[in-house]
Amino acid sequence: MNVILMGPPGSGKGTQAASLAEKLGVSAVSSGDLFRDHQRRNTELGQLARSYMERGVYVPDDVTIGMIMEWINDPDHSSGFVLDGFPRTQAQAQALDDALEDRGGIDHVVLISVSDDELVRRLGGRLTCDGCQIPYNLNTSPPLVIGKCDDDDCDGTLYQREDDKAEVVARRIEVYNQETQPILDYYREAGILSDVDGEQSVGSVGDALQSAVNA
Ligand code: AMP
Repeated sequence: MNVILMGPPGSGKGTQAASLAEKLGVSAVSSGDLFRDHQRRNTELGQLARSYMERGVYVPDDVTIGMIMEWINDPDHSSGFVLDGFPRTQAQAQALDDALEDRGGIDHVVLISVSDDELVRRLGGRLTCDGCQIPYNLNTSPPLVIGKCDDDDCDGTLYQREDDKAEVVARRIEVYNQETQPILDYYREAGILSDVDGEQSVGSVGDALQSAVNA
C-alpha cells in the first residue's frame, strides 16, 4: 500500500505517519526528517538544505526528488510506504507518479486540515527530539521530564527547530498555501484524496486516517 499524508506544517503528519505505517505494516518516511538527518551528519546535501529550511522555503525540486527516490527505490521499502512531507510541488508529484508507474501507483492521499491560527499555536509550542525526531508540544503533549525524550531507548534532548520560530512559521504556512495547494487539486481530480479534520484528538485523527485508507 502506498499512502501520502498531506497537510500544512504542524498538522500532525509526522505523528500520524509513524502510527499509520505501523498499522499498515509498511515504512514511513518524512522528507523533513531526511533533510535534518543530513544536516546532523553535515553532508553536502544537508548543508545545502539548511539554507532553505532556515528561511522556511522549499529545498529545490531536483535535490528533494533525488533524496526521496533513493529512499523509495531501496528494496527495504518495496512493500509500500507512508510519505510525510513529499510531494509538495507539482514537479515532485509528477516524479512520484513516474517512479510508481510500474509499482501500482498511489493508493491513497489523505489531507489533514488544520486552521492557520491553530497551526501557529501548535508550532509555537513544539519541541523536537534530537534523537528519534518525535515531536512534543508544551501545550498539548509535554514530555514527562522537561527537555528530555520520554523514550528510554532514545534518551534524546528536546530542542526548538529553527524553522518553528515565530518569524519562520508564518512564511512556511504561506509557502504551503501557495505551492502545495495545486497538488491537492491534482489528487482530488484523480479521485484518490480524502479529507480528515486535524483538529480532533490525536487518536481520533488516527482512526479517521485508518478509515480513509481502508475505504
Ligand atoms: P517539515 O519537517 O516537513 O516541516 O519540513 C521542514 C523543511 O524541510 C521545509 O520547510 C522545507 O524547507 C524542507 N522540505 C521538506 N520536505 C520538502 C519537500 N518535499 N520539498 C521541498 N522542501 C522540503
